[in-house]
Amino acid sequence: MLADIGIFGLGTMGENLCLNLVEKGYKVSIYNRTEEKTRKFYEKNRSSAIIPTYNLKDFVESIKKPRKVILLIKAGDPVDEAINHLLKHVEKNDIIIDAGNSHFKDSDRRYSELKKVGVNFFGIGISGGVEGARKGLSIMAGGSKEAFDEIKEILEKISAKYNGEPCFSYFGEGGSGHFVKIIHNGIEYALIESISEIFFLLSKFFDHEKISEIFNEWNKSILSSFLLSATVNILRKKENGKFLIDYILDKAEQKGTGKWSVEISLETGIPAPAIAAAVFSRYISMMKESRVKYSKLYNLSKITNFSLDLEDIKKTLLVSILLSYIQGIYLLKGSSFYNYKINVSEALRIWRAGCIIRGEILNLLYKEYLNYEDILLSNNIKNILLESFQSFLKTLSFAFNNHLPFNVISANYNYFIMVINEKLPANLTQALRDYFGAHGYKRIDKEGYFHTEWY
Ligand code: NDP
Repeated sequence: MLADIGIFGLGTMGENLCLNLVEKGYKVSIYNRTEEKTRKFYEKNRSSAIIPTYNLKDFVESIKKPRKVILLIKAGDPVDEAINHLLKHVEKNDIIIDAGNSHFKDSDRRYSELKKVGVNFFGIGISGGVEGARKGLSIMAGGSKEAFDEIKEILEKISAKYNGEPCFSYFGEGGSGHFVKIIHNGIEYALIESISEIFFLLSKFFDHEKISEIFNEWNKSILSSFLLSATVNILRKKENGKFLIDYILDKAEQKGTGKWSVEISLETGIPAPAIAAAVFSRYISMMKESRVKYSKLYNLSKITNFSLDLEDIKKTLLVSILLSYIQGIYLLKGSSFYNYKINVSEALRIWRAGCIIRGEILNLLYKEYLNYEDILLSNNIKNILLESFQSFLKTLSFAFNNHLPFNVISANYNYFIMVINEKLPANLTQALRDYFGAHGYKRIDKEGYFHTEWY
């Protein structure tokens, strides 16, 4: 009997997605560039519902028509290589689904190229990590509209469920699904960094067990989220009686999706300083050897007495997380720049389960967005931000006074204080541009551009 679907790529995601599909009743054909991995996986998970294959011809021929092939491999050139190899074997109307973290512009290109040869292409963003692949993902699909019905049922079955509602959606043609996934990851960067900055502050005064308890308490409130609960577990984890976190090097790498979110911000002109700060925080973390040298030269270390209320810190995390999501929402709204028509409320809806950025604040934003597409105009959001603002300021000034890095949290402060300020110093910015470059400036009392001979 032929397979219902094929998985190309048996890395951590491919293996787990295969098991998830089998559990949902599908027969799955598998292929991996390195044969050994396929062999080992099959030996461990021997089942009549899995067909191991060791060349692409057998792989493709083992799948029912129209064939559905999910690529779960390293993004970039490997995806083009894999598609080129597959094209030698697939036929018209077959479906190639790239479920890796590809750039949406690559997915646009692949979509058009495959359309020309009659093959349907989907760029699908998936979130949920290894557990999601195994138990249920948040799925952001984009690609061939006419072929979506062919894969809909499969996506529904492997998706996470929020109160029984499947967390998958089709966002439009081309790379629109991967566009949504990139913004998801940008938000993820800012949330991770917000939690890390608060952890770093708390770690100056409390041990890991205590911080874990504090986060655990916060996790029962509106701050409840996958990332905070993951932090609770990480801080509890011991190895040979010692906290594992103390043995982890303070250098954080990245694979590119955060940077791509910032590129979207720069290209569209929609500000996302919290996401940019999170990306830069990782870059700065990578300068470990230099940091060690500079820290000896600029010895500013200073820790005053702990003069904060935990409630102030909690509210600071709340504000930083909320504003990080909000910047991501405005980025999603800018999808028309790339000729997409992303349904933002759908993105928020399907992020509520399965994905890495799921949490109560997101649930609130989903509800508020239904009434306020310009989300900062929501009364509920306004009340949270204003009610927490004094606490936010207290924590911020404490962190500054103690020379603690608050890159994302302070980026969120500046974003907030700027977007809610009717007047900004951009009048002087305009004047200076005109002074040295004769770029002209706009006035408040007359229409048009003006130039002044300043000297
Ligand atoms: P892994 O690093 O575990 O595995 C990488 C896979 O890519 C392997 O099967 C590898 O094959 C294959 N591969 C690499 N280069 C090539 C190539 N040139 N041609 C063919 N195959 C190649 O990756 P993951 O399973 O973690 O991730 C797979 C995709 O899913 C990536 O795009 C990733 O960004 C995305 N993703 C990952 C998530 C995660 O939490 N890990 C979450 C969401 C998306 P070989 O064994 O031969 O080296």
